[in-house]
Amino acid sequence: MRDAYVKTLVEIQDDVRVLIGNLEKTLEETKTALFTQNLDKARMVRDGDDKFDEEIRSIMRKDLTVQVLQSPVASDWRSLMGTFRVLSELERIADHCSDMALYIARILERDPVVKPPEGFKEMYEDMQALLEEIFRCYLEGDDEKARYIGDKDDIVDADFERLLPKLTDEIKNDPDDVASYVDYVLLLKYMERTADQVTFPKTGAYEVKVTAQDGTGKGVSAAGYTVVSEKAPKRAKNVILFVGDGMSLQAREIARILSKGMTNGKYNDLLAMEKLEHNAVITTSGYDSLVTDSANSASAYATGHKSVVNAMGVYEDSTKDPFDDPKVENISEILKRTRGMSVGVITQAESTDATPAAMIGHTRRRANQDWLASSYLDQYHRPDVIMGGGSARYLPKSVPGSKRKDNENVIQEFKDMGYTFVGTAKEMKAAPSDKPLLGLFHTGTMNVYIDREMLKDPQVLKGFTDQPNLMDMTQKSLDILSKNPNGFFAMIEGASIDKQLHVMDWQRAAYDTIEFDKAIQYAEDWNKKRGNDTLIIVLADHAHGVSISGTYHERDGKKGTEAVRVYQNSVFPTFKDEDHDGFPDNPDPDVTLAVQYANHPEYYENYHFMKKPTPPALSVTETKQEQSAIGDKVEFHQVTKASSKANPARIHPGDPAELMPANTPKDDPQECHSADDILLNAGGPGSEYFKGTMDNTEVFFGMLRALGIDGNKTKVHLTQAKK
Ligand SMILES: [Zn+2]
Repeated sequence: MRDAYVKTLVEIQDDVRVLIGNLEKTLEETKTALFTQNLDKARMVRDGDDKFDEEIRSIMRKDLTVQVLQSPVASDWRSLMGTFRVLSELERIADHCSDMALYIARILERDPVVKPPEGFKEMYEDMQALLEEIFRCYLEGDDEKARYIGDKDDIVDADFERLLPKLTDEIKNDPDDVASYVDYVLLLKYMERTADQVTFPKTGAYEVKVTAQDGTGKGVSAAGYTVVSEKAPKRAKNVILFVGDGMSLQAREIARILSKGMTNGKYNDLLAMEKLEHNAVITTSGYDSLVTDSANSASAYATGHKSVVNAMGVYEDSTKDPFDDPKVENISEILKRTRGMSVGVITQAESTDATPAAMIGHTRRRANQDWLASSYLDQYHRPDVIMGGGSARYLPKSVPGSKRKDNENVIQEFKDMGYTFVGTAKEMKAAPSDKPLLGLFHTGTMNVYIDREMLKDPQVLKGFTDQPNLMDMTQKSLDILSKNPNGFFAMIEGASIDKQLHVMDWQRAAYDTIEFDKAIQYAEDWNKKRGNDTLIIVLADHAHGVSISGTYHERDGKKGTEAVRVYQNSVFPTFKDEDHDGFPDNPDPDVTLAVQYANHPEYYENYHFMKKPTPPALSVTETKQEQSAIGDKVEFHQVTKASSKANPARIHPGDPAELMPANTPKDDPQECHSADDILLNAGGPGSEYFKGTMDNTEVFFGMLRALGIDGNKTKVHLTQAKK
């Protein structure tokens, strides 16, 4: 068995050698094309890259699990993972080469007379030598050395700084050639990025400064980083990160009022999440904006780096391609690489939706969900448990209901890797706990607690009549993940709290918050039984502008705004829980909460629970004729604008129906996220780290600190036996 494994490893390393040979040839061809100004050749290099990417993917997709598991020799793991890392590096570098080739072709096409700027050739050669050295070190298994070569990248950077102002001068002297020079600048940028293997080898504070110059002057931009390597006094074996998507402080309070009730102004009990011993206030803004989305904020938890709206695990670059942005290693990759831990992503949204995907994948565009589903297969971050909705992203195009654009059958690929696949609660409960699991319980987002467990309206459930609840999903995933003696990381998401607040259905959001809290209760009890070896964190990724103004009742015949009871009129609500399951028996008692929103579209407020999920506003597109004058001609254009208007389905006979004008731009028919800070609760080893007011990126460091992970360690494991 061991021989078979070694044979495969050697084969792969041979494949890699051939690939490196090819890449070196590509670099050489690019250089020749550049310096001999051979346009056709430069184009060929571009075409060749697609083939190259394919070759790399085919090697990376080889299922090595079986052979690998039969050889529990640490050094073998290390060389295998080293090989995978070389491959992903190669892919990235080849992409940049092909972009360079494109720019070269463009320059030549436009103006074959323009010469490369002075010093360009030397810089190109410096970069090439650097890359070659990095490849050699990786191939010889010397990752440490390869890493430190990154320092030499400074030389290339210095060249870049020297060349850029020169180009700017040339543009000034020769304004007709601006376009060609602009392409040279882009080309230089690619080369600079290709050579950038940024690492911070020591702990402490770093400042990264970029100076750039254009026709209008010099600009300097700086960013600060602190490299930390802290360890908790007691080490956690596992980490469970509970993310209540959009669960603002007020969303928790609504759930507490409904679930626990009050006596004489005191709560009868707290939510399970509120009983964890430590808490912190978390700020949530992204790199680009005050208000974040779920991709960006989950990415902060998963990587310790800020990103931008719609992005995860990357720093956004200026190119269109959503997959070429510089990547940041995420928690799943670090834990698998350094300690061979298991990873689980459990959600009620599509399993490739922003929050779960940010724990695993890397893309500038969260909407690339079918691509994300395929990327879950990649060994260096492949989750051992995946549960949620969104099977449409895994099924080949030929299957009705699929949302894929190709015929890849991702479910089959997971099965081929030894995963149990389940599609209902019954199947999930029966699934073995000693195998990895893929559970997809809906083609889209799973239904919410009220519809799934209480109302069971067939029109709403659309045939998905056996979806599991989050408590059972939590139980099954902990059963499976805890089989790994190296520990695990699980992200468990209450996803529809956010989705229901977007559609201004606070009752459905509240029941899902209670369900989420019961899953947390299960995990807390589970952790206690094991002797408290697991760090449990509960937080939201961002808030919603939802607030409790008081209570609402029509006992005295008043209706609508006049029946919103504030101050001393806000008598206590009358939610009842006769069966003591933690969920109110009726979501619409005679005294209910007056819940109001700070950022909403135009909608009809009826103050009551809606038996059928009813979105607050409908999207409408308006097409108008607009005229513009170009020279002495007047041209007419059809201009289409998205807008939204109140949904009349929210008008119910007998209930008030007050038209609330939009207080956010008309192109969004939903309530939106707010920039409000959110609350974090934590219990278990390492939870003492969380206190005061913290940035969302600090959560990542708190998790690594609790586990005692040294991210610089190149020692490599993979997840334990699964056959
Ligand atoms: Zn949202």
